[in-house]
Amino acid sequence: MLTAIRKDGTIVHLLPRRSKELLKKEREKEEFFCPECREKVIMKVGTKKMEHFAHQQGSFCVESYEKETEYHLNGKLQLYQWLEKQQLAPYLEPFYSSIRQRPDIGVSCFDRNFAIEFQCANIPPELMVKRTNAYRTQNITPIWILGGKNIKRKGSGKVSLSNFDYLFLTRSPSGLWYLPAYCPESNIFILLTNISPVSSKNVLSEISIFPHQSFLIQYLIAPVKRNNTCTCHDWKREIRSHKSSLLLQGYYTNDVIKELYLQGMNISLLPAMIGLPVANAPIIETAPLVWQSYLFLDHIYRKKEGVITLEEIYRSFMKRVRKNQIKLRLLPLVRDCHPRKALLEYFHLLVRLQVLEAVNDTTFKIINEVKTPEHVLMQQEQEELFYRKFAHLFFK
Ligand SMILES: [Zn+2]
Repeated sequence: MLTAIRKDGTIVHLLPRRSKELLKKEREKEEFFCPECREKVIMKVGTKKMEHFAHQQGSFCVESYEKETEYHLNGKLQLYQWLEKQQLAPYLEPFYSSIRQRPDIGVSCFDRNFAIEFQCANIPPELMVKRTNAYRTQNITPIWILGGKNIKRKGSGKVSLSNFDYLFLTRSPSGLWYLPAYCPESNIFILLTNISPVSSKNVLSEISIFPHQSFLIQYLIAPVKRNNTCTCHDWKREIRSHKSSLLLQGYYTNDVIKELYLQGMNISLLPAMIGLPVANAPIIETAPLVWQSYLFLDHIYRKKEGVITLEEIYRSFMKRVRKNQIKLRLLPLVRDCHPRKALLEYFHLLVRLQVLEAVNDTTFKIINEVKTPEHVLMQQEQEELFYRKFAHLFFK
């Protein structure tokens, strides 16, 4: 941390930065304490890391939970300077005594208060949920920024996100999913938008890079939608490769493969309408291919007619969740995070794909039995046709 208090209760900031000699002299004269737990802290003035205050070993203070790395300290400092350049009046490590929390930076703008948390190391999700909720009780909007080195690119428009990275995923007021990151080593903001999960880790996403001088705080609050450079061909390729990797896991370790097999089906023979992107798919941790396979088995497969309601769909879906066949995501920053949204989007997509008919907004009718292809070649031919005819409906 870059802030401590003196014996008399006054605050010491290490910003603006002072010479090492000056700091060393200050250190000899005075003692410093943590503003949060009041334990004695040490002013570290070395050559490897930027100067900072650190708790003594074995401290139980939440603040000492994340051992501040050079990467984190630099990021915090750069983000502070970045806000100053926008003519804002950021506050370094403000201590909110009512909730006993201290974000990296506090800033007020657009008539709102923001707490900026730059997080590079894993923290337990519960801690992030707790901190986020506490800020909200004080009418402070938290902005969590992920350390840029966490973003693992796996090709153009493809990123692998861990469960920890996913905690930073959020949704703008206009419904856009995005994940902000900052890298203090290259002074860039990384904004992932148009996020479409392919598997539980891999997503297709628009990856935008901004030098920090051309990036504004409003882009973190409500970023604008970007044009998709990912195409339906990328999506088709990813779904095919996901099918192959599921097949490799085999019958005994993978529930969906087993269930498809027991019902006389095979994952490589699934019709192309299974495994499609929907806007709210990030709410579900399990891959779209898998949760949509279960919906297919539960409601559509081998049915010639019948009516399906959203309530029935949701009930069967939640039964799978309880059996651990489908997992939901923990997204602490997203309010109103309900899987019903994704399920409804998928069923409305099936209506546009002429698989079902909509009776009303939440009730659907089976019009024809969905024929599954008899062999892989047939599946691929049907898939090609399907993508040619319908891709514009689900991949813009
Ligand atoms: Zn402390």
